Amino acid sequence: MDWEARFLQKTPGEVAVNTTPREVLRACWVGAEPEKHANTSLISWTDSVAAMFGIQKARHLEFAGQKIVTGMQPFAHCYGGHQFGQWAGQLGDGRAISIGEGRNQIGTYHEFQLKGSGLTAFSRRGDGKAVLRSSIREFLCSEAMHALGVASTRALSLHLTGQEVMRDMFYDGNPVMEPGAIICRVAPSFIRFGSFQIHTSRGDLATLESLVNHTISEHFPHIKDERNRLFLWLDEIIDSTIEMVIDWMRVGFVHGVMNTDNMSIHGLTIDYGPYGWIEDFDPNWTPNTTDANTLRYRFGHQPRIVLWNIARLLEAISPLVENRSILQEKINAAQDKMAHSHEKMWVNKLGLKQYDEELIQQLVELMYHDKVDMTMFFRLLSSLSKPELHQLEPAFLDIHTANQVDWKIWLKKYLEQTCDEHRAKMNLINPKYVLRNWMAQLAIDDAEKGDYAKIELLANLLLNPYEEGYEFEKDWFRRRPEWALNRPGCSMLSCSS
Ligand code: AMP
Ligand code: MG
Repeated sequence: MDWEARFLQKTPGEVAVNTTPREVLRACWVGAEPEKHANTSLISWTDSVAAMFGIQKARHLEFAGQKIVTGMQPFAHCYGGHQFGQWAGQLGDGRAISIGEGRNQIGTYHEFQLKGSGLTAFSRRGDGKAVLRSSIREFLCSEAMHALGVASTRALSLHLTGQEVMRDMFYDGNPVMEPGAIICRVAPSFIRFGSFQIHTSRGDLATLESLVNHTISEHFPHIKDERNRLFLWLDEIIDSTIEMVIDWMRVGFVHGVMNTDNMSIHGLTIDYGPYGWIEDFDPNWTPNTTDANTLRYRFGHQPRIVLWNIARLLEAISPLVENRSILQEKINAAQDKMAHSHEKMWVNKLGLKQYDEELIQQLVELMYHDKVDMTMFFRLLSSLSKPELHQLEPAFLDIHTANQVDWKIWLKKYLEQTCDEHRAKMNLINPKYVLRNWMAQLAIDDAEKGDYAKIELLANLLLNPYEEGYEFEKDWFRRRPEWALNRPGCSMLSCSS
């Protein structure tokens, strides 16, 4: 794979590397330089991603920013965003540096981005670094999501920088030194909703237009209808974004920080920070300690937040649109589409004949009340033939204290509503394994002691999340162990990566 820099050729930016924190005007990017380290070492490498581009492992130092080769032109993206519902102004890649673009085996361009490789113009008061624990979480989760069929940025490699980084994990004034790490992530591009918002917010329509033109012609080249090009493009972003969030709801993923700067224009899950997985079913759960009071980004709220974010994107593009009423129509249509996709997701997840609001509402209440593990429940439900609750016991905290009468009524009604054809496909969309928070923590605990075997083990397990017959099933198809209940990293997480 050769390195190219189309984004830098086609959009305005600042070539000179200058890491002084500042407002970067009339630019989509700023030149950057990955920091050099004496002892960078490779911990994990994703063969399937490397194979897409024909990259040999021997080149791994390029993907840790330790070797700059011909054609590579590292840069940081400029973007803004709404954070927790408020316009936050310029943000930009403060701890990510893109090293360039390369073509995969079928000729499609992808951008390679290093997370944690040092200061950029957007680092503000941060250090541009990432710690091992957060890097392991992003590395494992991006690939796990991809294998689950959820659109995501991919992860090629995970390196230790050999340098320690200071972090105050609990924001309690007790910082400690932690191992620094770099992941190389891969996506068609790392352009975000906020990449457009920043220029509109400044009234800089020339830069906005240039970015829109580049994005459509390079990343949506099949859109040929010149007159309706903007609308067709927005339709595609809306559709892929809705599909992504509905997939999150299907597998029990909670992003945790769905700010508009964390929304990919390719409908990919991006920026894995304090994310988490639903274990005991609770629509109000958020893994993000920063959001513990408002619960803006709680599990059950994600479809609504995505619609809100889509509205912000449409606003950002609106100065380029003559007939703005069409944008309002698009928001209304997106609402309908979200509702429809959500209903369809439930029908498939449960293997129903048709959507039944009451049946689903009752299930949600029962699962919440009796602390039922989401992943295990749906998996076990797929092989249930009689309304016998004990068959679902492994998913329950304590089946003896569960609401037996209501469950029995529900199961009976459920089995009457199912469709054999749909039920036969339940195991294709209800995973057996997801990256439960404590699973990632086990890999992190070992890695912090220099043992990386569990990273490989989990990466392999999660390559086939729908498959039965795994040798160590009992270790991972299980409810959260006791030790993980109040362990940091296993329930709530902060953004301090
Ligand atoms: P994120 O939590 O990844 O969505 O990041 C939000 C914003 O904070 C982005 O602009 C990041 O680049 C920036 N940021 C987060 N951590 C750091 C860090 N350690 N150094 C510099 N910037 C950071
Ligand atoms: Mg981000």
